[in-house]
Amino acid sequence: MSPKLFGSSGIRGLVNLDLTTDLAVKIGMTIATFSKNRKVLVARDTRVSGLMLENALVSGLLAGGADVKVLGILPTPVLAYLTRCLEADAGVMITASHNPPQYNGIKIFDENGIAYNDEKQDEIEEIIRKEKFRLADWQKIGEAEFCDKSGFYTEMIWEKVKLQKKWSLIVDPGCGATYNLAPKIFKGLGCRVIAANAHPDGFFPARSPEPNAETLKPLAKLVKRLGVDVGVAYDGDGDRVAFIDECGEFVDFDRVLAAYAAYAIKKGKGKTIITNVEASMCVEKMVEKLGGKVVRTRVGDVYVAEEIKRRKAVFGGEPCGAWIHPQYHYCPDGILSSILLLKALENENKKLSEFVAETPRYTTLRENIPCKNELKHRVVEKAAEELKAAFSSVKDFLDVDGLRLTLEEGWILIRASGTEPLVRLTVEGESLKAAKKIMEKGIAVIRTAVERMSK
Ligand code: MG
Repeated sequence: MSPKLFGSSGIRGLVNLDLTTDLAVKIGMTIATFSKNRKVLVARDTRVSGLMLENALVSGLLAGGADVKVLGILPTPVLAYLTRCLEADAGVMITASHNPPQYNGIKIFDENGIAYNDEKQDEIEEIIRKEKFRLADWQKIGEAEFCDKSGFYTEMIWEKVKLQKKWSLIVDPGCGATYNLAPKIFKGLGCRVIAANAHPDGFFPARSPEPNAETLKPLAKLVKRLGVDVGVAYDGDGDRVAFIDECGEFVDFDRVLAAYAAYAIKKGKGKTIITNVEASMCVEKMVEKLGGKVVRTRVGDVYVAEEIKRRKAVFGGEPCGAWIHPQYHYCPDGILSSILLLKALENENKKLSEFVAETPRYTTLRENIPCKNELKHRVVEKAAEELKAAFSSVKDFLDVDGLRLTLEEGWILIRASGTEPLVRLTVEGESLKAAKKIMEKGIAVIRTAVERMSK
């Protein structure tokens, strides 16, 4: 594991190597060391190591004097929602989201159900490093209660969303944390539900916990064969969703995000949409023509959530299928997003393929330039002025996460890889020709910078 324990999504690592029971106990003790954290919720996804880490984490929390509600297997967004709904001081989710089964992780939410940001994570990390835990006197050790509180979430959805049409759909939890709640909630909304891979299994034998065009090929075939209206698939902890349309085609993440963002502007009480620096410019194209505005953040759902709250945005999301609906709560929510998409199709009287059809399709290119780890961040930092000079028509410049230049016929994003000795270039162009031209210039600037700084 890197010297820093926490990344943008909490702690993530290989079980029994990076993420041990020892570390989980310490995280529990640390969370309870903050005196405001007296009432804490804990949940986990279906991973094999979930129960092991849950026991350790709960032990640490109890030792620190916190009372814990142990909620068992739940999707991350449900844990986040319950944290606010049940007026807990913190919620802790044991999950490695879409990572392979040998990984696990720990993600912490505050009393508002918003994931801990860098500052809060740094505070936790500092206590763990210095082992400055404050343990409770023996009479004040916390109490644990094992309970199922998922009904608060299902009832909330059923109360707030009504579907008029009897939709037929295949729900694919991929053996992850949405395995029982997703089919149950859709049935409760009057849908005809076929559940696939809907048993909990921490080995993820049916498909990878990361839903994408490749891993959902079997689902796409099934949707076509059974002739249902839509297929929905979630990642391991249910904060992401991916869609298959009625023709059995995987729906591009960027385009469906843009189409839903446009719908949210049309329907909502605001004009601002939040997404990250990697999302396609089709989001701007769809939102701006309706008089809306797109604000881009660093990659990571916590940054999107914080920006939504700060700007009172009507909707936000990342093009991995993590969508946030602030009218409900501030955690990306796969189940909720798939229900609200059906509601959108109903309101617009469209099939899923038609709903996305208006969104333009652009060309994306990606290149990596080798660069030593100790240099990569400096190369990106120092390239700003040269990049601005290389492109004659910079419409917008952002440096919240690497460098992102909006240009006449596309954009370029330059970031240092988080894990490898590489600088990553992402380009999107209105045409392949435009994208290639932008990429060529970008590569030239970065290569020169790497060469110069390597001397
Ligand atoms: Mg996830």
